[in-house]
Amino acid sequence: MKKIIIIAISSLLTVYNSLGQTRKMEEKFFPDATIDIPTPAFQKAEWKGFTKYKEMVRFVHQIAEGKEYVKIDGIGESQRGKEIIRVHINKPSSSEKIKVWLQGGLHGNEPASSEGVMFILYSLLKDPQYEYLLDKLDITVLPMANADGYNNMIRVSANGLDLNRDFIKLAAPETNHIRTAFSEFGPQVAIDFHEYNPYRAHFNHFGEKGITTYYDAFFLYSNNLNVNSTIREVTKDLLVKNAKEALIANDRNVSDYSSTKMKNGHIHFNQGGSSPRSTSTNYALSNCLSVLMEIRGVNLKRISFKRRVETTYLAGMSYLKTAYENGDQIRAAIAKADKSTISQEEEAVIKQDKKVIKTKYTCIDLATESKKEIEVVMTDGLQMKASKTRVRPYAYILMPTETVAVEKLKTLGVEVIQLNQQKTIDVEAYQVKSTHVSVAVWEKIYLRKTKAKTVKESKVIPKGSFIVYMDQSTSNVVVSALEPENDNSFFTFRVIDGDFKEGSELPVYRYIKKQKI
Ligand SMILES: [Zn+2]
Repeated sequence: MKKIIIIAISSLLTVYNSLGQTRKMEEKFFPDATIDIPTPAFQKAEWKGFTKYKEMVRFVHQIAEGKEYVKIDGIGESQRGKEIIRVHINKPSSSEKIKVWLQGGLHGNEPASSEGVMFILYSLLKDPQYEYLLDKLDITVLPMANADGYNNMIRVSANGLDLNRDFIKLAAPETNHIRTAFSEFGPQVAIDFHEYNPYRAHFNHFGEKGITTYYDAFFLYSNNLNVNSTIREVTKDLLVKNAKEALIANDRNVSDYSSTKMKNGHIHFNQGGSSPRSTSTNYALSNCLSVLMEIRGVNLKRISFKRRVETTYLAGMSYLKTAYENGDQIRAAIAKADKSTISQEEEAVIKQDKKVIKTKYTCIDLATESKKEIEVVMTDGLQMKASKTRVRPYAYILMPTETVAVEKLKTLGVEVIQLNQQKTIDVEAYQVKSTHVSVAVWEKIYLRKTKAKTVKESKVIPKGSFIVYMDQSTSNVVVSALEPENDNSFFTFRVIDGDFKEGSELPVYRYIKKQKI
């Protein structure tokens, strides 16, 4: 018993010491900001933590008081029964508006995101110098997307799911509510705010005492090749470019997002992001200019917290200003992307690979407490190359059994219709070449890898089958969800499941002829 107590105390001391050292490091490189931030977390003692769910609800109602153009409601309940709060700001105006979606707190242990989003809300509603933005912007804000997680400062939802891995399989109620509200609103610009962990375990392998990151903010925007190319370009060259400049002008160090992973005993750096299961790519697949912000902060508790919240705020205000000032360019870009998507100009990408490069990575060496560059191997998601493509079909056909998949497609903003009589039509079927189910569980699923070839056949399509025409502007996500080999497909996530023996047909068909069925 005594031993256990001693171990417990000494491990507590280790945590305390490491946080003490951390604070010293942080204050040297990332000195805290000195501004006043009006959100509830800053109105209480540091040891009392962050804004609680109830305080957030009270705060948004307070700042919206007397403003008829602000609507506050819930989009659905979290697993623990908390309404996920939506603040919709749409001031009457004769100008054409850009629809902007802002969300924070999808990961519950990333507090600068929610506090920053609340600070943005405060400025829009209480600071007269920013009121002009409302003339040309129609803004929907989710201040605390993962309310259960946020209240307890844990990353995941109440049942342990990582909500930012759930935007294709849609297994959690929260992601269903969020994606439904997103689809209904149909924003042209969407920003999802997060924080990242600057002390990764892999970083201990570099230098004498390890390294930490040098960047206040990482920018994550999709380079997935199924995201329309115009959306990719304008996101990077307009929104991200301006926000990077705004942060640099405020003495913040910025970079494109990177993480690390272990591969064959070596640490690989991983730049960019392209997974349809996460918001940045998922939203971009709906022809929306979409960015995910990663502010340096996970596990730092309230160290340099004002700086982190201000960084979130500065990035957010930059996005709003860019949307305000470039309405015509944004509308034109999205119209071009919609037209390209509807007329199926771009190929369906089945497999895409990141380029592997050797590069220099800027970091902070913990032994010398100085900035340094290290040589790293990086898989670069900013340079994707298609290694397998298929012609984009005019429609996908799902067998009547696939009702769960159809519901998820609808949540993803895709229109699906049902065949009211049996028909024989020429299709491409997927014939299974091999299928493999992983031995390790990921997000409560044993993932499946499927290889298939397409074979042309005349097929009796039963009454009640589902037709997904691809001539809709939101159809890029369908390629990711229904092409079986995709890493994030419904087959991978077992939304569409079965024995799938070699030679058997999958319950989804491709219809190529450009003519309604
Ligand atoms: Zn996050």
